[in-house]
Formats: sequence, C-alpha cells, structure tokens
Amino acid sequence: MTTTTDTHCPYCSLQCGMRLAAADGAETLVVERPGFPVNRGALCGKGRSAAALLDPASRLGTPLVRERGELRAATWDEALSRVARGFAAIRAEYGADAVGVFGGGGLTNEKAYQLGKFARVALGTANIDYNGRFCMSSAAAGNRIAFGLDRGLPFPLEDIPRTECLILVGSNPAETMPPALRYFRELRENGGTLIVVDPRRTRTAEQADLHLQPLPGSDLALALGLLHLLIADGTVDTGFIEARTTGFGQARAAAMAHWPERVERLTGIAADRLREVAHRFGRARTGMVLTARGPEQQSKGTDTVGAWINLCLASGKAGRLYSGYGCLTGQGNGQGGREHGQKADQLPGYRSIEDPAAREHVARVWGVDPDTLPRSGRSAYELLDSLGAPGEDGVHGLLLMGSNPAVSAPRAARVTQRLRSLDLLVVSDLVLSDTAQLADVVLPSAQWAEETGTMTSIEGRVILRQQAVDVPDGVRGDLWLMRELAERLGVGRGFHDDPETVFDELRRASAGGQADYAGISYDRIRAGDGVFWPCPAEDHPGTPRLFLDAFATPDGRARFAPVTHRPAAEEPDAAYPLYLTTGRVLAQYQSGAQTRRVEALNSAAPGPFVELHPLLARRLAVAEGELLAVTSRRGRAVAPARITDAIRTDTVFMPFHWPGAGRANTLTNPALDPTSKMPEFKVCAVRVEAAGAAVVPAGAARSGQGEPV
Ligand code: SF4
Repeated sequence: MTTTTDTHCPYCSLQCGMRLAAADGAETLVVERPGFPVNRGALCGKGRSAAALLDPASRLGTPLVRERGELRAATWDEALSRVARGFAAIRAEYGADAVGVFGGGGLTNEKAYQLGKFARVALGTANIDYNGRFCMSSAAAGNRIAFGLDRGLPFPLEDIPRTECLILVGSNPAETMPPALRYFRELRENGGTLIVVDPRRTRTAEQADLHLQPLPGSDLALALGLLHLLIADGTVDTGFIEARTTGFGQARAAAMAHWPERVERLTGIAADRLREVAHRFGRARTGMVLTARGPEQQSKGTDTVGAWINLCLASGKAGRLYSGYGCLTGQGNGQGGREHGQKADQLPGYRSIEDPAAREHVARVWGVDPDTLPRSGRSAYELLDSLGAPGEDGVHGLLLMGSNPAVSAPRAARVTQRLRSLDLLVVSDLVLSDTAQLADVVLPSAQWAEETGTMTSIEGRVILRQQAVDVPDGVRGDLWLMRELAERLGVGRGFHDDPETVFDELRRASAGGQADYAGISYDRIRAGDGVFWPCPAEDHPGTPRLFLDAFATPDGRARFAPVTHRPAAEEPDAAYPLYLTTGRVLAQYQSGAQTRRVEALNSAAPGPFVELHPLLARRLAVAEGELLAVTSRRGRAVAPARITDAIRTDTVFMPFHWPGAGRANTLTNPALDPTSKMPEFKVCAVRVEAAGAAVVPAGAARSGQGEPV
C-alpha cells in the first residue's frame, strides 16, 4: 500500500511544498503538491531528487567513535557515554564555557530551540552559535536597527508581482531557488521594473530590465549614491519621513557626500546608469528592495543593509502595502533557526539574553533559576577560531549539529586545523560530512522525511514537515540525542524527544517575545498553508504583513541608519590584484554535504571552477578548463577556468560547495562586521595564475592538511 504525506523540501528557505509517496519495499517518491501556494507544485532539481537522501547507502546508519586515529562503528550507549564523560571532564578542567555548541540553519524550530536550552541548561555554556550567523545576520541586525524587528520578508512573496519597481541586490534566485523566479517574472508581466545588482550577469540578471555590475564590496556606496539622486530628483517622500521615521537628517548628510561621479568611481557604475535607476525607483508609487548574501556577507554588511533600507524609507517605500525592504534567507530554517535561542546573544522568541525580563520569562518556562543562565557567548566565527586555544580562553569540546564548517566557514583551512585540535569533537549529522570525518564521535541523526518538525520559511510562514518514512535502524533523532545526553550529564528533567511537546514548550517560551509563536499549533498549520508569526493567540490570524500601521520600535517610527561608505576589509593591491567573490550553483546546496551525494545533482555540477572574464583569461594566458591557482593571504585553491563575459574583468568567482583543493573558503576573509559578526565571504583580494603541472586536479577531494592557515 502506498501512503502519501504532505511535507516540504529539505533544502532552501523557500520550503517548497511537496508530497512524498512511500510504499513497502519501494523507493520513496517526490510528487507535486500543487495546493501549496508558495511554489504551486514547482520544484527545482534539488527538491525533485530529495528522496535520494533517504538511500541507506549515502547516509550514516550507526554511531562512530575514533580509536587509534580511525572511526569505527559503536553502539549508541558507547558513543553517548564517551560524549558525556568527555564533556564532563572538559567542564571540570576548564569551566562550563569550554564546551561549545554549533548548530545549523537547517535544523527544525524544535531542534534549534532545544539545542539552545541544552547548551544553557544541560551544559551551562554561553558558547552556542550556528551557521546561520554566516547567512543573514547582517540583514537581521539592519532590520532590528531600522524597524525594531527582524523578519526576513515583512510581506508574503505574493506581494512581489504587485509592486512597481524592485531592486534585487546580490541575489541569484534563478540558481538558488528557481521556483521563486515566477514572482519576478509576474512583476514584469504586470508592467513593473526589475533591477538586479550583481557583479556577475547571472541567470537572474539576464531577466532584469536593468542590471548593475558594481565592484564587489561597493553596494553601500551604491545605495548612498542612489539616495543622493532621490534627494536631487525631489522624489523623497517628506510626508512619510515626517510621519513615520526618525534620523533622516544624518542619512541625508551622508548621502549628499556621495554624488554620482564619486559613486561612479567607487562602484564602477556609470553616473547616467545610476540616474536611470534612481529615477525609476524614486518615481514608482510602490517599490521594494530585496538583499541577499551579496551585500550582507561583508565586514560592513549591517551598514550596507541600512543604506538600502534608507532608500526605501526616504522614498516612502516601507510599512506600506506592496512596498518595503526584505531579505531573501538562504538556509531552510535560516529564519526560525535564529529566533529561538541558537544565537549566542538570544533566547527564544527573539529575546535578548542580556535582558533581565527575558531571562526571567525563559528561566520560568525552563524551570531554572534565571541567575544560572549564561550571558552572551562567542559568535560563530569567534567560536570556531577559539577552538583548542590554550587554557580557559579556549573551547575544548564541541557539539556540532547539522553544520559543515570545514567547508562553509571562512578561512576554512585554519578552521579545519582548529577542529582537529579539540579534545572532543562530536558531530551529529545524517551523512559523514567533511567535518564529521574529523570528529571523535559521530552520531547519525534522523532527517527531514523521517521526523516531524516545524520550519519558518523565507516569508516568516511557520510550516510543518511531517514524517513520511520510518527512521532507519541505528539512527536517532536529535531531540532524543539531547534528552539522552542531558540525562547522562545529570540534568534529566525538561528535555523531550516528541517534537510536538517541544513545540508546545517553544510556544510558551516565545510568548510575549517579538517572534511570538504562542498561537501556532501543529493542528493550525495542518489545517492551512502555515501560519505567519507573530501569532500571539490561537484566535489570532497570524501576520503576513508587518509594519503597515507602525514599526516595531518603541516610538513606532522607523530609524534611518547613519551610514557612510568604507572600503572592503581587503582591497586588491600589487600582490593580490583581483577581487574574489563566491556563491552557489543551481545543482548544489551550501557545503554540498547532501547534494554531492545525489548522483543526479553531482553529475550536473561535479566540481569547483574559477569564473573569469575573457580579457583576464587572455592576460593570464589561460584557456577554458585549464587549472588556475587562486591565492589569497589565507591560502591557495586550484580549480579549472570557466571563461565568460558575464563577470567583471577585475573579479573572479568561485562556488563554495566543495572541500579539498578547490575549496573556495580556503581563500575567504574572516574579517567580521562589528555589529552582526558576519564574515566577509563576498569580497577579498586574490592573485590568479595558471596552476602548472604540479597541482592536484581540481575537484579532487583532498584533505585540507598542509594548506596555509
Ligand atoms: Fe527545495 Fe529550495 Fe528547490 Fe524549493 S527552491 S525545491 S525549497 S531547494
């Protein structure tokens, strides 16, 4: 008999609805679920092939422990005992903060919530953060500063086709979330204008009315220049500014110092082109700016987001129907994962861990004394960089759940070395990821279709992934893992392995916070197409559109950000004369730990490459497919050349999905944004040359050993 289950894709933040058909002894199939409004049945290749992840051959089926340098199979009892003993010993020697926790933006809300609680209550450590810090922390910070609240999109995707002018900055949904492209197509069909800002002429940029190709790292100057032109054009909305904002004076002064010819020099975009964009955006009655990792993954990401928000505020395109600023989240639960306690400085419901009232509320739900809760810990890169540092300054044991920083962290060779230096590295994952290969204990976790849990999508819509198939023998869920470990650490109470029980506790913990889930239940989600937060009560309809009446600041007004241009942390020079920017390709997802194991995807995108302009290729005397060595101050990566006039002549691009010789993050710069602690993935200075005969073939999965750190 075949059973069908409505669920959602295991990958990106669009969280496309899909249906799984499972029958005894037969392969589980992904089938269309046309009734889910976000994707109306459409799926990209990753979603269509998602059932391949359930193949026992490609996933872990038993715990592993390291013995005499090698990983060997172990029982759960042996593995968990080793973890509990190891963490207890580290805490006894160095203190509770010497055990760290590193989570993931793909974990369900229930797992993310319980992981935050596990870190603070069972381990007593302040040091918990997650890879979502690398995803949209700059947008989160920019949103909080301007609007008093961070939800990636303050409106549903269905509003996009109804706006008149949309500027998409540093985002390539044609490759990262293809089903979302229809919203942009419909916008143009309705007569709207789509403007794409990207140093590469991506498949998304090809569909735009206007494409701006700025220098990597110059998005802040671009936004300031556009605001200058709005002011000069007289298209600022003074009534809106007076009624609903504060701080325009400073923003105006900063913009006036960014006249078109100066911005042309800073961005490489002709002044006339800037004027055209400003005219179109300024004169439109409704408009949106959407940013993604391009402007956000910079050491000035928060200010850059602030500058784009300023543009919306000055032209009255925020807090109004079909207008506003939004951020396109990347990871499946990038939104929910940061709302409920995985971040070093936050408690569930988007509460600050430093706020006495928030500590009191959450401690009451958790049944602990508020004074026992740790304070803010280290942000993601700071945490990774502290691994194995001497004495009490270092984190000596790490529990890593659903993340693969050996590939995805900046300055990855150093991070790999740090992971190796730990007394105890414990990794819970469904596959033997590149990071799990370094671990002392590997715990095989249930995934996506094998368990139930909620996710919060790109729109702030809380949806339910429902279990469709049995958990394989030898595999356990992460909720169970936390409960068992807590018991072995002597904190038996308060940890559960039933997702709905955990969600009900999350509802109580989030009640009254900004990300208020109190009124959301599994039954409500099942009965509809998800529920938008905030939803403070069971009879509350949820909130698809934020800020229409007031912003979430104490006085209800949005705040202009007082920002001004500054260069990237590392600009090209004589030794490293080119920009490197990094990103994703259609057939792979994030660090590739899952998609590299799916034949249909991996054969479409089997290895890394270096994209460069024909003029640069001629100058370097390299041909298509020839191996190139790309060197930054942090290391060297080797991958074949892909020559295209879609990229600037002064910039090379590498996708970051692969480990080994072609690992792009060997090169990237961990310079951090001072507010969001986002590393500068999107821009660094490199040297490029033909690799010569002595290098390993690009795409070969070599270890990171021996690379500069
Ligand atoms: Fe899955 Fe994202 Fe593709 Fe939709 S767009 S099918 S959520 S990977």
